[in-house]
Amino acid sequence: MSSKRSASSTLADAKPVAYVDLKAQFAEDRDDILATVERVFAEGNFILGDTVEAFEQALARQFGFDHVVALNSGTDALLLALLALGVERGDEVITQSNSFVASASAIVHVGAKPVFVDVKPDQCLDPGKLEAAVTPRTRAIMPVHLTGRVCDMPAIQAVAERHGLVVIEDAAQAIGSMLMDKAAGAWGDAAAFSLHPLKNLNAAGDAGFLTTSRADVAERVRRLRNHGLVDRNTVAEFGINSRLDTLQAALLLRRLSSLEEVTRKRRDNAARYRALLDPKHVFHPPCRQEEFNTFHTFVVQVDRRDELQAFLKERGIGSAIHYPIPIHLQPAAKVLDCRPGELPVTERQAGRILSLPIHQFLTEADIEQVSRTVNGFFR
Ligand SMILES: *Cc1c(COP(=O)(O)O)cnc(C)c1O
Repeated sequence: MSSKRSASSTLADAKPVAYVDLKAQFAEDRDDILATVERVFAEGNFILGDTVEAFEQALARQFGFDHVVALNSGTDALLLALLALGVERGDEVITQSNSFVASASAIVHVGAKPVFVDVKPDQCLDPGKLEAAVTPRTRAIMPVHLTGRVCDMPAIQAVAERHGLVVIEDAAQAIGSMLMDKAAGAWGDAAAFSLHPLKNLNAAGDAGFLTTSRADVAERVRRLRNHGLVDRNTVAEFGINSRLDTLQAALLLRRLSSLEEVTRKRRDNAARYRALLDPKHVFHPPCRQEEFNTFHTFVVQVDRRDELQAFLKERGIGSAIHYPIPIHLQPAAKVLDCRPGELPVTERQAGRILSLPIHQFLTEADIEQVSRTVNGFFR
């Protein structure tokens, strides 16, 4: 089915390729979405309830999680995982700097200190750097499954066990991803997932959930998400409001049933990119035998990244950078005493990474066009 257009595509014949396409998603699901909205309004329950419980159970079944607690956002899932696992003031949590800021801010907001370690060429936490970062104050390790690629969990857990640390997976970008047939979010003591509109499984607003293998942690997070209430009038401990909307759960439950198809399309798109992009100029980490990657993003590493991004934009091709400024170099990180140069791999990658369009509404011709344009830039 591959199009036989000439390799020398001109500006004129190229059609725009958007980085995301939420309008296409709405067009596809419009009737379903409107019927779902109508049903929730007709029932008149808007917070938690049976639909939220059904969503939690569907997630647990689909991915083999022991416990799922639906929350207001992925950020809250990180925060409540830390709280429920007893991470507190003065503790240190080892994590990555090449992540969305929430990984670090959740740690800061329980009064602990994020300690950043460097990553491997594939952007995943380097387990070889963990041991040197452990101090008597270290309580937890928070690996980030960036792009949908699961970190080297066996190696990370070996270090955690050796030092008595808990493991909290930031699996915000990794719903459905696996390593050695075990789901992202099923490895650590707890994990955080985001259902933000731009994630692979997406709500119509903020939403997220926490997974855990520990019944006590699940129970505590259920309590903490609802002000610490154990019944209508009794507050067992001070919590927060992080309850998931019924409307979001109803929409998400429907979308969950088509997530496999979304994942298949993203994986096909990634395979096509990997076959077409010129490896002389474009680095994409090799896929590992034992992994199942859901490609939340397709991040390449290139020289002259900013020039390439501008070149693509001129030709109607959207792209993004996740993330241009590592957390340890953000103005907010001054309080952590971080310095440029301390994470050389992370810092070098920050200037070289570019996320190409990978969403499920792209056609083969779109992927060919993006690949041809990227290769053309370097030729
Ligand atoms: C999206 C994301 C978060 C935060 O999730 P929200 O639902 O937006 O709060 C945290 N960590 C990573 C790596 C993310 O990509």
